Amino acid sequence: MQPFAFVDLETTGTTASVDRITEVGIILVDGPNIQEWSSLINPETRISAFIERLTGITNQMVAEAPTFADVAQRVFQMLEGRLFVAHNARFDYGFLKQSFKRQGYDFQATTICTVKLSRRLFPGHPKHNLDSLIERHGLQVNGRHRALADAQLIHQFWQKIQQQIPPAKVAAAVKALTGRPSIPTHLNEQILDSLPQGPGVYLFYGENELPLYIGKSMNIRQRVLSHFTSDVSSAKEMSLSQQVRRIGYIETGGEIGALLKEAELVKKLQPTHNRKLRRNNELCSILLKETGAGLHINVAYARDLDFGRQSNLYGLFKSLREANKVLADLADGHELCKAIIGLEKVKPGKPCFARQLKRCRGGCVGEEPLVAHSMRLMAALSSLRFNSWPFTGPAYLKEDGDLLVIDNWAYLGTAKTEDELWQLLDSPRPQLDKDSYRILQKAIKSLQPIIDPAK
Ligand SMILES: [Zn+2]
Repeated sequence: MQPFAFVDLETTGTTASVDRITEVGIILVDGPNIQEWSSLINPETRISAFIERLTGITNQMVAEAPTFADVAQRVFQMLEGRLFVAHNARFDYGFLKQSFKRQGYDFQATTICTVKLSRRLFPGHPKHNLDSLIERHGLQVNGRHRALADAQLIHQFWQKIQQQIPPAKVAAAVKALTGRPSIPTHLNEQILDSLPQGPGVYLFYGENELPLYIGKSMNIRQRVLSHFTSDVSSAKEMSLSQQVRRIGYIETGGEIGALLKEAELVKKLQPTHNRKLRRNNELCSILLKETGAGLHINVAYARDLDFGRQSNLYGLFKSLREANKVLADLADGHELCKAIIGLEKVKPGKPCFARQLKRCRGGCVGEEPLVAHSMRLMAALSSLRFNSWPFTGPAYLKEDGDLLVIDNWAYLGTAKTEDELWQLLDSPRPQLDKDSYRILQKAIKSLQPIIDPAK
């Protein structure tokens, strides 16, 4: 839980530049721990009779009290790094800021105004002054217009809304008022502080230790925090941040390691909030075959064929359906003949469907030479060309102290010691997947073959 300070002041008047503080009341809330502090303050100026009557704080009462200068350091330390919650926060914050400034302190805090918060959460009510809140929420009054008593009322109001309003809605309102992250109520802020600031993968767990989301970043802490600061209008992010109970992480030597680990874990753990649950068993590619009647397209599955060792594959598709779609679009775009390449069945010598619309150059009816069609097909496919694995055996990529071990474009794991390296090399080879292939294309130049001394 984020540390809060519920604050109320009594003053000699309403103008921060002229008037002075006569009493400070502070409630510090750290999760379940609550600490109250208050002190009368000698304003070093006269309190008017009107204010004496309103607050009950008289000139006589403050005569022996410490001045703000006497308590400034203590109050500053109490409030530092906390969310400053006050009723009409601008007033209290402004007075404190001015008073601190006179003592040479630059006081900065993110404020939550409970007037604004109440207005936002209970828009149907016209009044949001403290007396209205007392009545509406049945707050317990231990005094009025005294600093600590009023701070207690604000704190009570805060507790009431936690009971009455769904956490996501409170968080959204707080976020809108403060413009800063509202740390999920179920997360300890220390967890966030303990996150590393280097590259790696982070895992959000919900109740029952279910993985909710896996992400990667070059700065784990920053990225995790950004989940809680993203736009309030993102209902998805809001729902995710409200479900998080625990955050785990795996540090990596660099970006490629983080990307590969993320892809591996998303597939393995299938977190509910990762948009694409990439299933791998339908992974396929296109194999070109000369049939005697032109180059024909065959679909090959990664589960059947060792793609890394092939030199004539085009594209990686998550399913046959996706492969057919890409091919059909390609044929349309290049006026290729779907009958020749095998996407459409027609009797020999008969025009394909596209030919009838003059969108095939006529290979099917002998109007385009087959060799010309084949060359156009190859050119159209060239951008999809699958890179065969450039080594005879496994390879590694070094990132900081990490050795990323790869074979046939499949990520075997990360080794930090030589023992771990040999263990990985002995492990069963995972099937090629589209993500690691794509990630590794960016890093081809950094790959080094592993020479196995046993061979
Ligand atoms: Zn045709």
